Amino acid sequence: AKLIQLYNVQVHYKESERPALSEINLSFQQGEFVCILGQSGAGKSTLLRTINGLQLPSNGEVFWHDTSLHQKNEEQLRKVRREMGMIFQHFNLIPRLTVLQNVLTGLFGYRSSFKSLIGWFTKQELEEAANVIDAVGLTEQIYRRVEKLSGGQKQRVGIARSILQKPKLLLGDEPVSSLDPGTANQIFKLLWELHETHNLLTILNVHDVQLAKKYASRIIALKEGRVVFDGKPADFLEED
Ligand code: ADP
Ligand code: ADP
Repeated sequence: AKLIQLYNVQVHYKESERPALSEINLSFQQGEFVCILGQSGAGKSTLLRTINGLQLPSNGEVFWHDTSLHQKNEEQLRKVRREMGMIFQHFNLIPRLTVLQNVLTGLFGYRSSFKSLIGWFTKQELEEAANVIDAVGLTEQIYRRVEKLSGGQKQRVGIARSILQKPKLLLGDEPVSSLDPGTANQIFKLLWELHETHNLLTILNVHDVQLAKKYASRIIALKEGRVVFDGKPADFLEED
């Protein structure tokens, strides 16, 4: 099933001369594992923020299922975003909180933050959190403060937090760019396994062409805000 469609999307930031994205026509299906390649400034991050509705296009439209994000109000957009998990280059965790506490913040979309104390979560929520922590291989670290963890482990926390939301789509903005190559590979392996288990549409921005070629079912390359390649990894040449 098609989850997302972008029709003729253009994003033009006020301050800049040329658009950050031009004439983007893309659709994404459930179960795809997509890597977006492109140099710094190519528009990768803008594309992800356009997909999750944080950035409204200056032209064109983005459809989630069959409804244009344009037609949604702020409350409906928040609801859509809860169906989209997001992971980040710098993890965006709360360093002094434990693995469990950080993962539970994934539920804040549903509840107000003053209920963040462990006691406010239901038994079922705590069990689900423990399950996703197990799925990312951090059961032994569940009560450790995140600041004590390695980079790879921190990203595992970020992944567990996003998976707890039971997303239909997982977006990653350079999720392995601050990790060493071996750790980056392990994180991609984990993301690929989660995508397989949950038939989860996964869209990741990456710098590393080899990593994209190894794991992606589809590669999209951006250059100066335009799609210059969209196809199978085997057909992708680095010169693209
Ligand atoms: P990438 O993620 O591939 O590095 P970005 O989407 O971050 O690319 O940026 C694409 C272009 O848009 C760049 O020229 C960048 O400077 C510009 N840009 C990104 N975010 C903003 C913003 N909030 N305001 C103005 N220009 C921006
Ligand atoms: P991951 O466990 O997510 O693959 P790494 O590849 O960074 O993360 O770490 C490999 C192993 O080395 C892990 O089991 C981790 O416990 C340990 N490790 C690496 N760096 C640190 C660190 N700074 N503090 C504690 N343990 C670390």
